[in-house]
Amino acid sequence: MAEAAVSAAASTPSLAVPAPLPVRAVLPWAFFVGLLALIALYFVGAEQGATSVFAGTDVHEWVHDGRHLLGFPCH
Ligand SMILES: [Zn+2]
Repeated sequence: MAEAAVSAAASTPSLAVPAPLPVRAVLPWAFFVGLLALIALYFVGAEQGATSVFAGTDVHEWVHDGRHLLGFPCH
């Protein structure tokens, strides 16, 4: 009896079916994360000189290594 149950379970593989993800539930989070990514990209890549939001070079110095890592022109 137990062998029959084991062999039946082994012969029919159970497929894991992922739960459906509704787009309406994901869309606000995708927009929010995209907005945060754009803000981070701005501060890493363009916060310098005439387009700077904050005066001085503090933000530039904080993200300087990330700027070079992502290949933005710097100095
Ligand atoms: Zn640099």
